[in-house]
Amino acid sequence: MAVAYNKRTHRCGGLRIDDAGQAVTLVGWVNNYRDHGGMVFIDLRDSEGITQLKFNPETDPKAHETARGLRNEDVIAINGNVAPRGDNVNPKLPTGEIEVEAHAVDVLAKSDPTPFEIEDDTEANEELRLRYRYLDLRRPSMQKTFRLRHQLGKIIRDYFDENGFVEIETPFLTKSTPEGARDYLVPSRVQQGTFYALPQSPQIFKQLFMVAGFDRYAQIVRCFRDEDLRGNRQPEFTQLDMEMSFVKREDVMDMVDGCIQRLFKEILDIDITVPLKHMKYAEAMDRFGVDRPDTRFGLELQDVTGQVREIDFGVFKSAIDAGGMVRCIVAPGAADKLTRKITDGLTEELRGIGAGGLPLTKVIEKDGNLEFATGVAKFVQPVCQSLCDAVGAKAGDSVFFMPGTYDDVCKYLHYVRTRLAEMLDVIPEHRWDLLWVIDFPLVAWNEEMKRWDSTHHPFTAPVDEDIHLLKSDPGKVRDQAYDLVLNGEEMAGGSIRIHRREVQQSVFELLNISEKESNLKFSHLMEALRFGAPPHGGIAFGFDRWAMLLAQKASLRDVIAYPKTQRAVCPLTNAPGEVATAQLEELGIDLRPEVKAKREAAS
Ligand code: ASP
Repeated sequence: MAVAYNKRTHRCGGLRIDDAGQAVTLVGWVNNYRDHGGMVFIDLRDSEGITQLKFNPETDPKAHETARGLRNEDVIAINGNVAPRGDNVNPKLPTGEIEVEAHAVDVLAKSDPTPFEIEDDTEANEELRLRYRYLDLRRPSMQKTFRLRHQLGKIIRDYFDENGFVEIETPFLTKSTPEGARDYLVPSRVQQGTFYALPQSPQIFKQLFMVAGFDRYAQIVRCFRDEDLRGNRQPEFTQLDMEMSFVKREDVMDMVDGCIQRLFKEILDIDITVPLKHMKYAEAMDRFGVDRPDTRFGLELQDVTGQVREIDFGVFKSAIDAGGMVRCIVAPGAADKLTRKITDGLTEELRGIGAGGLPLTKVIEKDGNLEFATGVAKFVQPVCQSLCDAVGAKAGDSVFFMPGTYDDVCKYLHYVRTRLAEMLDVIPEHRWDLLWVIDFPLVAWNEEMKRWDSTHHPFTAPVDEDIHLLKSDPGKVRDQAYDLVLNGEEMAGGSIRIHRREVQQSVFELLNISEKESNLKFSHLMEALRFGAPPHGGIAFGFDRWAMLLAQKASLRDVIAYPKTQRAVCPLTNAPGEVATAQLEELGIDLRPEVKAKREAAS
């Protein structure tokens, strides 16, 4: 009689010694096959674990015969009895105290040999794993990760539900909602020559929900951004997106604090103290050189312009004379640890990102006094004592200087700080430094394009007291944005929005978005702002990034079921792909001759 695969009694991770003697039906994949002197042992795997099956030729010759023909990844169903393993307990498996003596087995599907072993410690390269992602996802660690991702979504949904938020879907085929990236475009067949844009975020739609009076909205939603995929980015990714009415920024941050606290508790059993710290953008830049500071370690930036102003060192002088500054990082005890080769390497890296160099020196003690040795020692020696006093440098420390404009100094010293932390191994493990960065500048000058760009997006509200500076001194206007930073990574970002039409118009003007362009792109928002828009604000957090962090994975691709490669290709489906000429014709689209030629050459 066939084994009733639709009537399994247990999952493969669930049986324990107390179940000994029970008759069970299990289904799953052959994880492993061993023939021990007639007795066949199979590790049966399903989504929840592994159970050892034993096939005995004496007692169950038919089942044993079938089992001998099984190979890894065949799909089977078995009937059997749970028995203690006796002396052969496997302490590594939760089910390691028992095995199931199988009396009947059905082969539901055979498997070809797989291109790589289905095991956690796979050596298969990522391209191959992504090409056969369904096999890769069979690996127990992947199953665990996607369960955690599910749990993350559930906790978030429950939390926002309990707090009165409504989940409402927003369209994918829409108009551009800018977040600073390129749009993915979808051609319209019905209205040839026009295009939908896939949303970079539901930003405008969620603001319109507030105008609509929903008051509190939260959605776990896919967003699309066509950017060059540096490092850990994906062209489509998931956000937890939320918006609230009648709030100030503290209210939004408090709401998120509660959610973060719950996530850490329920997923990692870690207690996070709330409210989280708030740090002003200016302080973050001054101390860490970046607006997403990693506060797990020191190596902070310090200004020494005053100390070095008078010394005879052209590199510092010219920076200071040009209105710039000199700042430094003191690396305690690094003098011995960082060899010349290492610091030369670091200097090269800095040159690679545009810095002129990395003036550095070491502090030594001689006859009871501090002195500088090596590097730029001879230039800075005259101010050695006052400089060391000012920055707290001691014998055995290294000092890394950076002359230049504020922005450049921040950028390069942030780089130096990050690399030093790695090289000196000063980043503590198991630490979760969460903080809010607030009071960003509303806009930043884009020297290349000679225009002001939003630091967040164009709908971010300026701080009320700064609105009068919008025309006269835009660079001084602070915004009402808030970014959540964890161990130096931006984990969420949001703001209070502009809810007054005339302010939105002035910000568009500042950003050089003409009335024509704003009408074309944002007329629906501008119109809505005429009809009683409440004060509102919200935030979005990178859902994949949170999943990656909580699952303690190194790559976003490990927490996205079907991710794209750095070239924005899906190795499983081979998307993006060519389409039939007829399909293009329907859309009123013709490929440009040079593109056509390139495609033909490639095929
Ligand atoms: N729309 C923003 C983003 O996607 C988040 C927000 O301002 O709520 O980054």
